[in-house]
Amino acid sequence: MLPFALKKLVFYAYKRGMMKMFGCVFCQVAAHEKPAKILYEDAHCLVLQDINPKAPVHLLVIPRKHITSLNENLENDKALLGHLLIVAARLAKEQGIDGTGYRTVINTNAEAGQTVFHLHIHILGGRILHWPPG
Ligand code: 5GP
Ligand code: ZN
Repeated sequence: MLPFALKKLVFYAYKRGMMKMFGCVFCQVAAHEKPAKILYEDAHCLVLQDINPKAPVHLLVIPRKHITSLNENLENDKALLGHLLIVAARLAKEQGIDGTGYRTVINTNAEAGQTVFHLHIHILGGRILHWPPG
């Protein structure tokens, strides 16, 4: 019998491999296998420029870990989720949009407009953002 920690490691490696095989773009970006304009990275996450920006500043904060969406059981990822928000605020400040304002958005599933099924936080700013969003 494999110890639990080893099983978890094997499962995680398998899941990562499957995600790359089935072409999760953000797993590929995180592994530096797909080019992207990366503004920040650390052991847990990356911040990149959106390929199709909807505002003068449009960044994406993505965890290195493949999480499909907020619908996953994230009880064990509370620290990671908090970290993503703190990094988002830091990058907004670096981009100079903290004073004027910015929006952080997580789209979950089709009707909300999720197109990439690897959790990501949009940071949008540099223009007036209307409310409610369309
Ligand atoms: P969603 O619609 O899932 O909330 O957001 C996905 C975002 O990822 C979109 O704004 C889209 O423009 C962006 N995107 C999709 N593929 C790529 C890519 O390969 N590179 C980068 N930098 N952004 C991407
Ligand atoms: Zn992924």
